[in-house]
Amino acid sequence: MTVAGWVPWLLDSLDPEPMPGSAFDTYVRQESVIITFKERPHREVMNWRAWLPLNSNNRPVSRVCPACAESTTGGALTLPLIVQLPITLTCPHHGCRLDAAFGSFAFFGWEHSKTNNRPVPRQVAIQDARTEEALRTGTVALPRRTVHVGVWFRLLRTIIEEISIPFSKLRVRPRRSIELIWRTAGHPARAGIIGAARTYETLPWPQQEMYLEAAATAIHLIETGEIEARGTLGHLLTPEPDRPAPDGLPPRDIWDEAREAMSEALALAQQDPLAAERMLAVLTSLTRTEKTFQSIRGDLIGLDVPEAFLPQTLAAMRAPDAGTRGVSHNNGDRYRSQDIE
Ligand SMILES: [Zn+2]
Repeated sequence: MTVAGWVPWLLDSLDPEPMPGSAFDTYVRQESVIITFKERPHREVMNWRAWLPLNSNNRPVSRVCPACAESTTGGALTLPLIVQLPITLTCPHHGCRLDAAFGSFAFFGWEHSKTNNRPVPRQVAIQDARTEEALRTGTVALPRRTVHVGVWFRLLRTIIEEISIPFSKLRVRPRRSIELIWRTAGHPARAGIIGAARTYETLPWPQQEMYLEAAATAIHLIETGEIEARGTLGHLLTPEPDRPAPDGLPPRDIWDEAREAMSEALALAQQDPLAAERMLAVLTSLTRTEKTFQSIRGDLIGLDVPEAFLPQTLAAMRAPDAGTRGVSHNNGDRYRSQDIE
């Protein structure tokens, strides 16, 4: 129910940072998504706390769902914690856009007289559903695998940081990806910020809104393969690649094949003396002692292979002239068993 209750998932700590800049470094710069560590310019942010809005006018800014506000009466409006933080764009109950409001729980006023009824893009709905799932269940199912809630929030905040880097500090490839993200999101690059990078938590809500939409767009473009996520967490957003065998068939499971072959061989051995002897030869091919040989022979008898089909001793089976006609005891086989022994 409180931000403190979300430590260390949503943010690492509410305490003062142990070293100047370490909170930001640990949360935002430890991993990467769209760009690699090498491509990322150095940046220090002091006394920072993840997602906690800072407001210059010293008045609490929150976001309220118009449908929630309408359906409650007499100051009974309860606001989920998540809508107090610049982390989602939509109401988890109604799916509509949240509007900036000021005031407190008992009294609030809309920041703008007109409600924001722009449609919610699909990728934003997906992003908010993942955040909601993270807070509710502690995990989020991403295309590659399910991740811990802490990973999801750091991934999201890292993307926001990456798409805020001034273009002049980026190499060609990451710059093109980030330009495409902003263009696809339908917002000016870097939410219209010119010059040095600014910290997301200090931005006014309309710009935070653009950043959240651009982050959702970035995730969508990575998932569809339109941009490549070369950072350490990027692979989480793409499905496991198929690795077909060279002939284009799905990969073989040799143990499944072995089990199938074994039951086919057993069915044959129950009917055919030659097959029975071959099967015993295969099963005892690594066997050194008569005792083990007898044990395996006993197992086959237990599996309804007639005793008369099976050579009686290891020596008899491996003798050059052993067995029934045609049983393969060629020189190769003999050398192999000698090698083992
Ligand atoms: Zn609502």
